[in-house]
Amino acid sequence: MAQSGSDKTLDALVIGAGFTGLYQLHCLRDRLGLNVQVVEAGGGIGGTWYWNRYPGARCDSESHSYCYSFSESLTVNWEFSERYPGPAEIRRYLTYVADELDLHKDIRLNTRVVSASYSEDDNLWQINTEDGTTYRAQFLITGVGCLSSANIPQIPGLDSFKGEWYHTGQWPHDDVDFTGKRVGQIGTGSTGIQAAPVIAETAGHFTVFQRTANYSVPAHNGPLTAEFQQYVKENVSEIVDLVRTSPNGHPWKISERKAATTDPEKRRELYEEAWKVGGLRFRATFEDLLKDKTANDTAAEFIKDKIRSIVKDPQTAAKLTNIDHPYATKRPPIDTHYFETYNRDNVDLVDIRANPIVEITPEGIRTEDQEYPLDIIVFATGFDAMTGSLLKLNITGRDGLALSQAWSEGPKNYLGLQVTGFPNLFTVTGPGSPSVLCNMPVAIEQHVEWITDCIAYMRENNIKTVEARADAMDDWVEQVNTAANATLMPQANHSWYLGANIPGKPRVFMPYPGGMKTYADICSDIASDGYRGFTLDS
Ligand code: NAP
Repeated sequence: MAQSGSDKTLDALVIGAGFTGLYQLHCLRDRLGLNVQVVEAGGGIGGTWYWNRYPGARCDSESHSYCYSFSESLTVNWEFSERYPGPAEIRRYLTYVADELDLHKDIRLNTRVVSASYSEDDNLWQINTEDGTTYRAQFLITGVGCLSSANIPQIPGLDSFKGEWYHTGQWPHDDVDFTGKRVGQIGTGSTGIQAAPVIAETAGHFTVFQRTANYSVPAHNGPLTAEFQQYVKENVSEIVDLVRTSPNGHPWKISERKAATTDPEKRRELYEEAWKVGGLRFRATFEDLLKDKTANDTAAEFIKDKIRSIVKDPQTAAKLTNIDHPYATKRPPIDTHYFETYNRDNVDLVDIRANPIVEITPEGIRTEDQEYPLDIIVFATGFDAMTGSLLKLNITGRDGLALSQAWSEGPKNYLGLQVTGFPNLFTVTGPGSPSVLCNMPVAIEQHVEWITDCIAYMRENNIKTVEARADAMDDWVEQVNTAANATLMPQANHSWYLGANIPGKPRVFMPYPGGMKTYADICSDIASDGYRGFTLDS
């Protein structure tokens, strides 16, 4: 671990030691020879996977693509054990990468950034940490994750609850023992859908409080065969090509077939096959699922039929299939026996849209029509996504402009990377970039490499600041909206893509939905054109 950085001046400070922080450190330090420090609030590396240790937690990108692709040797010397890696395996993988690249010495753990401000006089960012350390750096790069600021709903009475409560994104490092306990879980997003089947196995009684019913497709997780592991090692470059040229960074091609024009029998056959394969690939069965509501309805109906065939109690099945948005317009979860969980005698589903939660009492959760006594409450209630963790850094740019002020009507930036008034600040996988609509390591690598190239260009050309121009930023926001409106995604009213899960948050479609490959091409073109849309100042 690096020594205390009291009043240290650096070329670049990187916040976060997840996929972004590790690769950004490697690129800037080992490729450009910069003096770089990574600071990380957690006690270990891993980023989102340091915090998300809830029961059933698993990445739903497939492991052979949920890794770096920049180094063939890193890939061939590592083996994932399962189709979808869990948090512990991802942390082991990232530790392996940090060991191989000798990164640990420049990562300072247990160091939370509390503020960062730009000083025009010396063109340096001043970054203050909770422990009183001050860093100064020409470049400030955030790798704080899109889903890392926990959303704990302001339900009256939580303080009075006599039992234990946990948010899935801040899970204790020691296992929580549910054995025989009365457990309530609020939330049925990707996280809740993963957690519920595991909690139900040991809980005495388990009650799921559902606000919005959700689609889910079986993950079909399992150990990877030796043959598959060998295939990965022998086909590294093909896999890298595939993920880097696909719209969403996953290692498969999206079918060119349209659901709307496929014969219904054939369509059902294709959905059945996709259901058996499982995972996020289901979305790639047809190319028009996110563009055409008629096409989308066919997938939605197929999944609802599956739910009805799995869930034995018709009333529970009706609550689970009362879904208010088109398929995959919210992040589509994948599961391991989620719907089957509702066939257990110890599990109940409460529809809190019909019967809202009124308060948390010392004994449990009270809805409009009854009280549910509980020993443990699990909040699987998601995150203040994409902007929450950035705003918590208390970043101030030119003329004392706070990022929170600049974004008071929602996030505005250029390419998801830079905000006018905040020179030399780069936000990796920020709002306005493909980020969460892409397999994250692919989105991260593209950003880190683009930033590295940009800084290299600046140094070669004696440029001291890079800053997004206001007109370029406005134009980019419009492009993001146009791309969103070409999909069905804005039709999901309760989506965190829109910030709709956080009371009072401006409703802006945050990730760029035009596809990772298209986005990467736009970024390359802008760079080749002398960083069009940025002001470069020497
Ligand atoms: P989420 O998708 O935002 O789901 C949160 C759930 O909590 C929703 O059911 C939401 O209901 C409910 N909720 C929120 N506030 C509530 C309130 N005040 N009262 C009652 N219910 C409330 O969060 P998440 O499940 O943690 O997933 C977030 C994202 O993390 C995913 O979409 C995914 O991108 C990522 N993730 C990835 C993985 C993976 O790779 N394996 C796993 C888990 C999560 P509404 O829908 O009505 O808002």
